[in-house]
Amino acid sequence: MMSKAYASMSREELLSLKEELDKEFQGYKEKGLKLDMSRGKPSIAQLNLSMGMMDVFHSESDLKCEDGTDCRNYGVLDGIPEAKRLLASIAEVNPNNIMIFGNSSLNVMYDTVARAYMFGLLGHTPWCKLDKVKFLCPAPGYDRHFKITETFGFDLITIPMHEDGPDMDMVEEYVNNDPAVKGIWCVPKYSNPQGYSYSDEVVRRFAALTPAAEDFRIFWDNAYSVHHLYEDKRDEILEILEECAKAGHPDMVFKFTSTSKISFPGSGVAAIATSDANMADIRKYMVVQTIGHDKLNQLRHVRFFRDRYGVEAQMRRHADILRPKFEMVEQTLEDELGGLEIGTWTKPLGGYFISFDALEGCAKAIVAKAKEAGVVMTGAGATFPYGKDPKDSNIRIAPSYPTVEELAVAAKLFALCVKLVSVEKILESK
Ligand code: PMP
Repeated sequence: MMSKAYASMSREELLSLKEELDKEFQGYKEKGLKLDMSRGKPSIAQLNLSMGMMDVFHSESDLKCEDGTDCRNYGVLDGIPEAKRLLASIAEVNPNNIMIFGNSSLNVMYDTVARAYMFGLLGHTPWCKLDKVKFLCPAPGYDRHFKITETFGFDLITIPMHEDGPDMDMVEEYVNNDPAVKGIWCVPKYSNPQGYSYSDEVVRRFAALTPAAEDFRIFWDNAYSVHHLYEDKRDEILEILEECAKAGHPDMVFKFTSTSKISFPGSGVAAIATSDANMADIRKYMVVQTIGHDKLNQLRHVRFFRDRYGVEAQMRRHADILRPKFEMVEQTLEDELGGLEIGTWTKPLGGYFISFDALEGCAKAIVAKAKEAGVVMTGAGATFPYGKDPKDSNIRIAPSYPTVEELAVAAKLFALCVKLVSVEKILESK
């Protein structure tokens, strides 16, 4: 395989290369592939790891939680005590500062924005009454975060992501000076899609923010807190509630977590961790919204995992399934694209995604080309506010769902699409 940088090739060389690549692409099309690398869904093998959770209850089971509450019945607004402890250990917070919700942290995030919008936070003006609300969106980032704040009509402001977290000079500039800036989305560990983790300095700079808006909040989505791929190489980050409290801003953060990618996505347990004052504020509205969330599912999770050690053991089993998939994609990209100077990609130590940056103006065409041959990727642009990548360069790769064998084919096809589209792009300028 030729590994000369494409940009240094002559027009003739590129034209003959294109012919070769076109032929290869035709071969893939004839295979009639049908593969999905679009969303970070656990594979069936991963879901099977938690099947024991289906067996923890039987007809004679004790369905009372430790304080004697019958979990089959109404009540317990913020979650049963043992579930609070379990989720607090995952979120690395005090169990007194966590509330358990339903099956989805995204839902909790939406509701948190909605409460601020409708009722205001800690007595401040509801965001719906303001002329303008701005939200900072480190990008590339999680499309569903951006969609929530877009749906509420906020102005989304793109903040560039670096390897150690969002561009903090820009974050400070906006947050400390503009009272219309009410929040920021953060995925601080193994970020979606780059797999980056915030450095201690970045976390401390977050905690030290002095917002122009008193009701500014950091939406700290710690979705991948225990989702390591390796035993010996791991990212760990500072705990944000503690750092904010130390810096004198205890109410500035909402931290979210869930067991979606620990047990079952869509049937896990979600939680929010925050200050006492924010918890009391949330409770005022939650008591109107529900009599209590699904306590049987909370109990089921505690009986199955027991504690943080049980969760960690489960995460090692997940990692054993996921690691070869990440390595397969990374190795294929290296083998196929190394030295060609037509793309760069991240090599995360955890989380669910690999982020690929193609030559500018190529991402949409690459994703379309892959689809033409039966491989569905996340839509190009999805990782930016409003679904618009200004450089049309970023593509999120989600290796979790296909088997390793399927991935071997899908990753090769993806690399082929990158080559084809890049050749066409470079030819335009020759
Ligand atoms: N946050 C991030 C960063 C995610 O990547 C995902 C799932 N892809 C979620 C939240 C969704 O979490 P949940 O299933 O708890 O709603």
